[in-house]
Amino acid sequence: MSTPAMVTQAPAIAFLDLHALHAPLQGDLDRLWKETLASSGFIGGPNVAAFEQAWATYCGTQHAIGVANGTDAIELVLAALGVGPGDEVIVPANTFVATAEAVVTAGATPVFVDVDDATLLITAEHIEQALTERTRAVLVVHLYGQIPEMDPIVDLCERRDILLIEDAAQAHGATQGGRRAGSFGIAATFSFYPGKNLGALGDGGAVVTDDDELAELVRVLANHGRGHHLLHVESGRNSRLDGLQGGALLLKLAHLDAWNDARRVHHAAYLEHFADSAVQMLATPADTEPVHHLEVIRTDHRDELQAALAAQDIGTGIHYAMPCHLQPAFQAYAPSGSLPVAEGAARRQLSIPMHPTLTTEEVDRVAAAVLDFVARHT
Ligand SMILES: *Cc1c(COP(=O)(O)O)cnc(C)c1O
Repeated sequence: MSTPAMVTQAPAIAFLDLHALHAPLQGDLDRLWKETLASSGFIGGPNVAAFEQAWATYCGTQHAIGVANGTDAIELVLAALGVGPGDEVIVPANTFVATAEAVVTAGATPVFVDVDDATLLITAEHIEQALTERTRAVLVVHLYGQIPEMDPIVDLCERRDILLIEDAAQAHGATQGGRRAGSFGIAATFSFYPGKNLGALGDGGAVVTDDDELAELVRVLANHGRGHHLLHVESGRNSRLDGLQGGALLLKLAHLDAWNDARRVHHAAYLEHFADSAVQMLATPADTEPVHHLEVIRTDHRDELQAALAAQDIGTGIHYAMPCHLQPAFQAYAPSGSLPVAEGAARRQLSIPMHPTLTTEEVDRVAAAVLDFVARHT
């Protein structure tokens, strides 16, 4: 029997490593679970209230309402604003399907628009071109942890009397002009899916807003339409945040800025490695501090690059492999023409490892592997 040749392979580099993120918090999280069991505070309660307060303060808004997930958060905002059948809501084609899905669930019509080639984000021009007399709202998505250029979008929405809603599911803590993601529109929504920059130990989400009435209505709708005195004033739904999730989010919020700073360090290293190469990175809008939820590069031969990285145990993802308007689920809402930037990006974009607990050596190894591939394929 011959012994197989020893293959020395460097250790795997994870696309996302939640285990490493949570390891230092193990004691705190164990205590939280014990306290939750002891108090039976499973739904809502003091941890949720404390987190809502802390999250509103962090975002620079008057209110935060914890809900069950980020998709519900969008649906609840649309419902509370009375956006529904007959209304058009402008949505970027390059986003996670949940953005469009929430519009459809609300009974409104998603109108997909293309994105800017340098940032892959929506712009005021894209919105302006899609306006009709039925446009009620725009869902601006702070995709990949960036923020689209907001001044012209805010202006346009004010001038044309359109509701500006931010899907900030990928942008916890990002700023533009010193303002946090979530503080530009009538309301903003967050997801606390475990893999987001601020993630729960399961599903979670939030709506933030400065509008007192909107905040109250979202809160009522998310809790079976229950108002004061046990009266059910609306036909609502169940979209509440768990006590355990509220407690975990409160614990983890204390680390969010440090985690986002670590992402920024990794991004700066990638930028340096890929300067003057054929690897295209995302441009950042002016005066913006992104939080790099994803590190998206664009190259030719994307699928072969992904396979080459997988062969070296380097985890990657594709965000997104198909723009929303081409997904079978949204065929009914497809625009008559093509959306060339979103469609081209879907074929060329690849998300490489980006998370707070990456090491410098890992970033260097990922970059070297990408550059080696690119050198052999151009
Ligand atoms: C994650 C995400 C959502 C949905 O959040 P869930 O908590 O999974 O429902 C919505 N929009 C964007 C852009 C997202 O990334």
